[in-house]
Amino acid sequence: MPKIQRLDDITISKIAAGEVVERPAQVVKELIENSIDAGSNNIIIEIENGGFDSIKITDNGSGINKDELKLSIERHATSKLNRIEDLNEIYTLGFRGEALSSIASISNLKISSRQKESDGFQLNVSGGECGNIEPYGMNKGTIVSVKDIFFNVPARLAFQRRPATESAKIVEITVEHAMAHPKVSFNLQNEGRLMLNVPATDKLQDRLFDLLGLSATKLIELQSPPEDNDAPGDELWSGWISPPELSRGRNDDVHILVNNRVVTSQPFSEAIKRGYHTRLMVGRHPVVVLNLEIPADELDVNVHPTKREIRLKHSWRVLQRLERSIQYTLSKVPTQPEEKSKLTGISKSKSNEINKNIMEVNKPKWVESAGKQLSLDNEIINEINKEKRDKLQISTPPSSQKTLPQMDNEPISAPLSIEERHLHRHSGKIKSISPIEEPKLTTSNINKLPEMVPLCQFANSYIVVQTGKELLLVDQHALHERIRFERLRYSKQSWLPQNRLEPLELSLNPIQSERLRSQKEKVEEVGFLIDEIDGVWYLKSQPAILSPEKILSFINDLIQDLGDEDRILNSVQNLKDHVAFMQSCRGAVKANQILSLPEMRRLLSDMRDIENPWACVHGRPTALKISIDELDKHFGRHG
Ligand code: ADP
Ligand code: MG
Repeated sequence: MPKIQRLDDITISKIAAGEVVERPAQVVKELIENSIDAGSNNIIIEIENGGFDSIKITDNGSGINKDELKLSIERHATSKLNRIEDLNEIYTLGFRGEALSSIASISNLKISSRQKESDGFQLNVSGGECGNIEPYGMNKGTIVSVKDIFFNVPARLAFQRRPATESAKIVEITVEHAMAHPKVSFNLQNEGRLMLNVPATDKLQDRLFDLLGLSATKLIELQSPPEDNDAPGDELWSGWISPPELSRGRNDDVHILVNNRVVTSQPFSEAIKRGYHTRLMVGRHPVVVLNLEIPADELDVNVHPTKREIRLKHSWRVLQRLERSIQYTLSKVPTQPEEKSKLTGISKSKSNEINKNIMEVNKPKWVESAGKQLSLDNEIINEINKEKRDKLQISTPPSSQKTLPQMDNEPISAPLSIEERHLHRHSGKIKSISPIEEPKLTTSNINKLPEMVPLCQFANSYIVVQTGKELLLVDQHALHERIRFERLRYSKQSWLPQNRLEPLELSLNPIQSERLRSQKEKVEEVGFLIDEIDGVWYLKSQPAILSPEKILSFINDLIQDLGDEDRILNSVQNLKDHVAFMQSCRGAVKANQILSLPEMRRLLSDMRDIENPWACVHGRPTALKISIDELDKHFGRHG
């Protein structure tokens, strides 16, 4: 074992930098926060190559004294905290004195600063090594320039995301800070191209309009119920929330500020959800920008190096207040509560199940499952995991069995993930297309399934089918979804761009613009031709797979999904899967929908023409099969 020794300062800083500046977007966040703490009301951010080549932030704040320039990049050197007691009452965004030292240790850094009635000076630092301080001509304020980030930490560089992803994240971070500080003007440029330019204003509403676009005009100002004025506690919620009819597929537009600090919205999301109660479709998320003003000593911001997480002394009380305010605000908006879903395929989930499902959201199941199938002779062709195989049990001789196969209490397939559920719920509002009106598939009986005769429909959700010596119970929605998926996904025509008569203006906010910009080529390969003219986006064509109506909400949801780094939309194939998947679910017949015999016949005939008839796009079975043999056994007719 080597000897224990103290690490040198540069190594310590590099290690610490791992937490504070994990990626370029975080550098931008720290530098914006420093500019705001310095009282700036004008912040200009310029980035190159997603921030990897260069990040430059110019502000008009108080500046740094020449004698303190070197100190500013020392670890735990801060002007914002003097004594330990100060930690209990923090009104600045920074206080740990770690950001500049961390950034300095992993980049080529220049800090130039000029205080009022003084000259400007510049300090050069490379990989933590300080250079000299030189005179520098500039306006009052500070310019921080960060070049070649992670040049001396190749291990970290290797794990970075694509520059396009990073610049999208930087837009997001700038937008969040712009929401938190309307009185500061923000100007963000990527390789010289203007991405965001919002003038200073006294009104949050004006700022939101600049950032969110038209949807901001629909937001409602949060109000507290009158009786809350006398409730204990000095905290105060304010901000804007969306009416129930304005919702998003993901929670990216839930913005929470605590004393004007951007924090992670997660701890507040349950309270928000409860506030909306039944007013919001399950799986949909509101647009909210909420600021909590709370005495600084009731708040611990020193929980995490990036300061995005906070702790509240009376969190229960604060969350209750939020819930009540949302409820009260919405009570004045006249919309109908959502109709209860009748889809039987959607299992009610308990909260722990939801947690489990959150993990599943990240990996789009349907991508893997598209390749899985069961064969009619009770074998699983491609692998279905062992556990499921054990439960399926259909290929073992039925002698030992007490009940019909698959009829035990345990469902054989996992409950729908949150994502699938919300997709289903959402598509529940969209009219389904009768199978009879759909074009025939070009492939004919490729899976060699025998003729199938529909006997009747059970519970308006399952088709009872006779096929040779077997009885099938077919989940009509799952099957139709699969048929539609196969038809849409693999037909070349689906992806041909259909020109629109008139280009459609998409009103995208800066975050959406950047997401789209970063994936433009891929999206075009799928058939969306999109032009950006003077910062306005126009849709010139769309893939034939999509109908021209509803295209706006489709694009909105798609762009949100494009921004999800954990989602695998990084190839054209995946994107096609995703679009076809969204579309196949949207038009499929529903559970609890009466089908005519011709419709059932058509579904069953289409079933023979697709490659994967036995699993729906989520990897769940489309049918339950009971052989006459098994029935005889069950009823004691054997031997
Ligand atoms: P912290 O913000 O936690 O104090 P930093 O490492 O981010 O730590 O910054 C160190 C110090 O450098 C700050 O306390 C502040 O005094 C000074 N400083 C940093 N950026 C600026 C800026 N843009 N304008 C004025 N002073 C700044
Ligand atoms: Mg700081």
